[in-house]
Amino acid sequence: MTGLAEISAPKAAGCADAPVLRERGQREVFCGLTGIIWLHRKIQDAFFLVVGSRTCAHLIQSAAGVMIFAEPRFATAIIDERDLAGLSDANDELDRVVTRLIQRRPEINLLFLVGSCPSEVIKLDLSRAAQRLSRQLSPAVRVLNYSGSGIETTFTQGEDACLASLVPDLPALSAQDAPNLLVVGALADVVEDQMLRLFTAMGLHNVSFLPARKAGAMPAIGPNTHMLLAQPFLAETARLLEQRGVTRLPAPFPLGIEGTTAWLQAAATAFGVSQPTFLAAIAAPSKRGSEAVARVRDMMAGKSVFMFPDSQLEIPLARFLARELDMTLVEIGTPYLHRQHLADELDLLPAGTMLSEGQDVERQLDRCRAARPDLVVCGLGLANPLEAEGIATKWSIELLFTPIQGYDQAADLAELFARPLVRRAKLRV
Ligand code: SF4
Repeated sequence: MTGLAEISAPKAAGCADAPVLRERGQREVFCGLTGIIWLHRKIQDAFFLVVGSRTCAHLIQSAAGVMIFAEPRFATAIIDERDLAGLSDANDELDRVVTRLIQRRPEINLLFLVGSCPSEVIKLDLSRAAQRLSRQLSPAVRVLNYSGSGIETTFTQGEDACLASLVPDLPALSAQDAPNLLVVGALADVVEDQMLRLFTAMGLHNVSFLPARKAGAMPAIGPNTHMLLAQPFLAETARLLEQRGVTRLPAPFPLGIEGTTAWLQAAATAFGVSQPTFLAAIAAPSKRGSEAVARVRDMMAGKSVFMFPDSQLEIPLARFLARELDMTLVEIGTPYLHRQHLADELDLLPAGTMLSEGQDVERQLDRCRAARPDLVVCGLGLANPLEAEGIATKWSIELLFTPIQGYDQAADLAELFARPLVRRAKLRV
C-alpha cells in the first residue's frame, strides 16, 4: 500500500506545535480485543463475550494464554457464514449462549458483548442484542456492548470503547453534591491503592475510579466532578464524560516521577490543597522513586530509542525516557495524536523531537534501520525481525500488562526498557 506523508509547520520550544510526519499506509497493530486481557482482571465480576470468528478466539486465547490461572472471564461466541442463513437465527444462538453462560457463572453481574470485524459480525446489531438481553437478565446482570474491531483501530482503543460503554449508565450527581475527583482509565489495583493513599494524604477523600473493581460500584458523576485521565488513549470516554458535565483536569500522565507529580498536582490545585500539604504528601514516595530511577539512569543515559506507533502511550513514555533517563529520542511514533489530551506532554518533550502519527510500516522500518537506535519500542509483529537484525526491542504491549504508573512503579518502568539492553549486552559477552 502506498503511504501519504505530509509535514505540518514547526515552532520553537517543547513540541506543542512541532512538525508531525503523518503517514497513512500499511500498519502493524493489534486490534481492540486485546484490552479484554487487562480489563477482565480489573472488573472482577464482569465477563467479556467476544462475538467473532475463530481468528478472534485464537487472538484472545494466545494473548491471554500464559496468564490464565483460573476459569477465565472471557470467551468467544463464534459466528460464521453458516449463521447468516438467517440473522434471527444468529440472534437466537447468541441468546442461547448468553443464557447458558449466566446459568453456569452466576457470579457475573456485568456482561460485555464485544463486537469484532468479520463481516458476519458487523451485520449483527449488538447494541439491540445487549438491550434485549439486559431486559431479560435484569436486575441480576447488566449487558453492555462495544466494538473491539481491528478495522482502523489500535489495541488500546478497546479499553476506550469499553469504558465509553459504561458512561451512559453511571449514576448522576447534582450541582448540590460535593465536588469529587474521578480517575479515568484501568490501573492495576496496587497502583490504584497507592494513588488513593496519596490523595487521602492530601486531604482528598471523595475520589473514585473508572472502571471500578465491581460492576455495582461504578462511580457517580455530575457537574462538580473533575476527572484526571490515567491513560492517554481515552478520547471517546472523556468526550462522553464531558457531555455529562465532568471537567477534565489538564495534566501530563502519571508515568515517571515528574509525570506523577504533575498529575497529582493538577488534582491538588483544582481542589485547593495547600502547597505544603501537597509537598508533604508526596515527599517520601517521590524521593524513594527518584532514587530508584537514578540507579537505572546510569545505564540508559545517552542511549537512543525509536518508537513505532502501537499503544498510544508513546508520547508520555518518550517524555519519561528523555527527561528522567536522559535517553535520546530518534523518532516517536503514535497511532493517533490527541493534541488536547497530550498538550502538557508535548510541552515537556525536548524541542526538535521527530514525531510521527499513523504508519507506513515499510518507510518507518527504513528510517529505523538507517538510524540504528540502541532500542526500539514496537508491537510483537515487528520485534522478531528487528531482533534478527541485531536491534534490541521492547514489546509495547507489555506496558499495558505491567503496573507502570506512579512513584513506586517508576523504576520498574525504567527497568522494562533497560532489560532488552542488558540481555543483549550479556549475549555479546
Ligand atoms: S476483531 Fe478483527 S482483527 Fe481482531 S482478532 Fe477478530 S478478526 Fe482479527
